[in-house]
Amino acid sequence: MGTTVSGMTSVTMFDTKKYDREHIGASLVDAGFEVKFREFRLNPETVETVTEGTDVVCVFVNDKVTREVIEALAAKGVKMIALRCAGFNGVDLQAAKEHGLLVARVPAYSPYAVAEHAVTLAMALNRHIPQANRRVRDMNFTLDGLVGFDMHGKTVGLIGTGKIGKIAGQIFKGFGMRVVMWDPYPDHAWAEEHGLEYVALSILGRAADIVSLHVPLFPETEHIINELVIKELKPGVIIINVSRGALIDTVALIEALKSGHVGGVGLDVYEEEEGKFFEDLSGEVMTDDVLARLLTFPNVIVTAHQAFLTREALDEIARVTTENIAAFGRGESPEESRIVSV
Ligand code: NAD
Repeated sequence: MGTTVSGMTSVTMFDTKKYDREHIGASLVDAGFEVKFREFRLNPETVETVTEGTDVVCVFVNDKVTREVIEALAAKGVKMIALRCAGFNGVDLQAAKEHGLLVARVPAYSPYAVAEHAVTLAMALNRHIPQANRRVRDMNFTLDGLVGFDMHGKTVGLIGTGKIGKIAGQIFKGFGMRVVMWDPYPDHAWAEEHGLEYVALSILGRAADIVSLHVPLFPETEHIINELVIKELKPGVIIINVSRGALIDTVALIEALKSGHVGGVGLDVYEEEEGKFFEDLSGEVMTDDVLARLLTFPNVIVTAHQAFLTREALDEIARVTTENIAAFGRGESPEESRIVSV
């Protein structure tokens, strides 16, 4: 980028994986920042690894930027918390304000990546792709048990039609599906333009062969898919959740999978994913019985919060994070929509 940054050159990046270092880290280095990579998360135990002279800490969704951490950062002279994600619930904003730390974020990266992953999960479940792939690798080329259905002519129900839900709706429409949607703030003009329809939540539940969740997690949306709602869904329904784990009561979902009422589930998020998703626990005992049970169903596909993970999304995160830090380094403000707290 060639940005000149005076007096604001040292960035410590926490919770970095290989893809973070290759995309976001490289972008920061190209912009002239001195970057230190930490593979572990920022929290009260690890804040001591921030060295004097660090100007910016760059963090992700699971870093714990508590008051204690912010006090320690401020004492070391850190001036900015650059989130390389949209969510900021891991940062104590009040403490950041009190200590004069700017908090900036990347409000959106690629809604296409997330919507396309939702459709991928639905298709993979419908056509039994995990089972088919396993079979042929065992040189078993039989087809019994792999019968799917045409997406064409079926009904998909979208709960939430923001940036991601809208794109999912347009993709499903492209299959020749009927798309029914519910959102507390419907965009009727967009729906009319694309031939999609808003309906009451109860009608969506009864009509949909596939239900896909695209609302954020709020107190009103927590367990929006619960035991009572599941009972009203069409028998054999496929449920897709790439939004937030707690939108679904997972215990109720497991009961419905056991009874056969729910025909398939595709999850990129899980209520208790923290400490599990993004980690390699292959050598450890799984202590989460609910997740362990979920993973026993042949008609459940779980991915570990990877819906966002495309090259385009990482490039966008890199671009915006670098711009945010560079702007602050020049003594300017990042764009309004990217500022969480000043
Ligand atoms: P958005 O803000 O563009 O859209 C959210 C929609 O939810 C809006 O249409 C809004 O009207 C609706 N909504 C608002 N309040 C509501 C309420 N109380 N009840 C029901 N609906 C309500 O968000 P988006 O960019 O489309 O993202 C949707 C969700 O996707 C995010 O909140 C996030 O949880 C998730 N997400 C997941 C990943 C991933 O990698 N799995 C990545 C990015 C986002």
